[in-house]
Amino acid sequence: MDFTRKSVVVIGAKRSGLAGAELLVKQGARVRVMDSEVLPAEEQARFDALGVPVVKQSPENLTADVIVISPGVPYDLPMLADARRRGVPVIGEVEMAAYFLKGPIIGITGSNGKTTTTALTGHLLRECGIASQVGGNIGRAVTSLIDSSTPEQWNVLELSSFQLESIEQFRARIAGCLNVTPDHLDRHHTFENYAAAKRRLFETQKKGDFAVLNYEDETCREFALHTAAQVFWFSSSQSVPRGVSADREEMCFAGQPFMKRRQIRLRGIHNLENVMAAALMAHLAGAKLADLGPAVESFPGVEHRIEFVRTLDGVDYFNDSKATNVDAVLKAVEAFPGNLWIILGGKDKGSDYVPLREPLRQKAKAALLIGAAAPLIAQALDSAVPLVESGDVAGAVRYARSHASAGDVVLLAPACASFDQFKNFEERGLHFKQVVAELF
Ligand code: ADP
Repeated sequence: MDFTRKSVVVIGAKRSGLAGAELLVKQGARVRVMDSEVLPAEEQARFDALGVPVVKQSPENLTADVIVISPGVPYDLPMLADARRRGVPVIGEVEMAAYFLKGPIIGITGSNGKTTTTALTGHLLRECGIASQVGGNIGRAVTSLIDSSTPEQWNVLELSSFQLESIEQFRARIAGCLNVTPDHLDRHHTFENYAAAKRRLFETQKKGDFAVLNYEDETCREFALHTAAQVFWFSSSQSVPRGVSADREEMCFAGQPFMKRRQIRLRGIHNLENVMAAALMAHLAGAKLADLGPAVESFPGVEHRIEFVRTLDGVDYFNDSKATNVDAVLKAVEAFPGNLWIILGGKDKGSDYVPLREPLRQKAKAALLIGAAAPLIAQALDSAVPLVESGDVAGAVRYARSHASAGDVVLLAPACASFDQFKNFEERGLHFKQVVAELF
């Protein structure tokens, strides 16, 4: 698409909106930006410096040749439906990037594990001597990767359902999906719509491309029927027709061992799956199987995802602040043999906490409850474990410090959003680490 002298409206003025506006200005477009919220002065200043006006979000201001939407903007907004009826193309930031990004793409999606697998795939390629850059949902807008892209360098992209739902031209040479479990139903309305958004990543592939899919996930299996790419599987519990599997000791490609499982520093079966997917994608991008073991071994993990913080008097402290839903907490609990002091709570998202009851009965010494959701969680756990109303993170850590003994694990895995006490899960995780660092 040629944007020269085109009138373009960018909707959404956060990171991806800003990166999109910068690209469009460079392409010679006449750009305006809209956001439903008033921008903080600092963000407004960035658009001022670009010479891009920020206008009020209204149907009148939407007159344009092309509309570019940020991932946070629902594709089915009525005003966008109107624009499409008038024949105005409505494209996402990722789709726009695809017109300009040089080099092949590895696109990674899934309900859980995207960030870990994306960071790991980038790491494996680098360690195996293959040029790559990493971006997308992981924190660097895809459009901001364009300037540093080259025809030989892989672009490893974390992609959410929001970024994928409207793609047409965007095409991943290698596309991977880790799992599809119900999430973001407020935005996609039904599980089918949510799965269909992720499926776009595979539908836009061509013959000669590769699709990497979890054999244990029913929706992933269904994706295999909707792609022209050659399908490779990974499975944590059985051998697969073509792809990566594992026995107790080793990980195998096409039945041949290529690395030891003990080379994986990340805990849990879910992380075994992330490693399998990343290793498979790196191999399909040219990494030698023999180089993958040492490369996996040197990956420390991603901050706030079952992150080891410290050992003090034989007690290990772990930060899993990213475990903002019950499913992620179940995975974290599964990753430890027992003796847990688990810190739970925060802002409730309407979750059902009852599934935590049995695993915690078996593995936790106590649940330390914090934040607004504490009474709800207490009710759901129904005295399956000793409950300690701790108020906040610092209170919970202090309690654990004075009651835990050598061999125990203190785990922040809240099952809740953080917005009652923190700006986001990162701030909560950093605060936890700070409190733990100050213990003596
Ligand atoms: P995403 O980017 O998809 O949110 P992350 O890598 O940030 O994924 O992990 C989010 C949470 O989900 C963490 O608490 C993590 O422990 C858990 N998790 C990571 N990988 C998986 C997986 N493959 N299946 C289920 N849960 C996972």
